[in-house]
Amino acid sequence: MTRLSLLTLLLLSSVLAGCSVNPATGKREFIMISREQEIALGVQASPEMEKQFGGPIDNQPLQDYVQSVGQKVSSVSDREMPYEFTAVASKVPNAFALPGGKIFITAGLLSKMSNERQLAAVLAHETAHVCALHNVKGMQQAMGGQILVDIVGTVIGGTEGAVAEAATKVASTIVNLKYSREYEYQADELGIKYMNRAGYNPWGMVELLNVLYDESQSEPGSLGEMLRTHPLTSKRIENAESIIRDDPEYAGFSREQNDPSAGIFLEFRATAEAAMK
Ligand SMILES: [Zn+2]
Repeated sequence: MTRLSLLTLLLLSSVLAGCSVNPATGKREFIMISREQEIALGVQASPEMEKQFGGPIDNQPLQDYVQSVGQKVSSVSDREMPYEFTAVASKVPNAFALPGGKIFITAGLLSKMSNERQLAAVLAHETAHVCALHNVKGMQQAMGGQILVDIVGTVIGGTEGAVAEAATKVASTIVNLKYSREYEYQADELGIKYMNRAGYNPWGMVELLNVLYDESQSEPGSLGEMLRTHPLTSKRIENAESIIRDDPEYAGFSREQNDPSAGIFLEFRATAEAAMK
């Protein structure tokens, strides 16, 4: 065997090792870490993420509520993961998904919404980023695949100090990720699908996007960080509208219908606002 063909073979085998089918899109792609490694990464980075956003809100009924809405949409998603949803106290409106399925929403974002289907929309959108591995692919791209693999190695077998450092790096990479417009459209579309499967009116997604868009117009800067991670344009709203309008699957829903769970949402929103810092 010539040197060249041996090299090709080696390259090919390493490519095949990382090649997998995306559970949400069905496309073949190159992912350098396994599902188990992805989960370990999220578990380690989670406390750092909570710390950066004011810590979990100290109110169990509120956490149970956010978890229950999140479970409704994630349990019917395209990827089985140990999903966990946490409300954190920061007044800065934001939501994040760590690799592995740990998802965070800030009190600041809860305070902008007015009913449960909008909350379901945020959590379904974040779930979609986990299902389609947007955050893993984003990290692979931002850090470089080999660095991500090294970080996973540290997280699993490193010393305490090294693990903490790696966890900080993962959290800050996720906070500073800028998802492409294509990923955002895909997360909206998948989120709409999961909302419908869970029995939520998918127009909640359009409501949510309009709330955020109006906020960004009236108070530019208030959503700055969130819009960096999840770019939002009027085109994105039109895209979500046409997905719902054009698919007979969603014909039973209209945007005029009231959300039967708006009352309970508003009670928990008040709890979150009281804890906001
Ligand atoms: Zn997003």
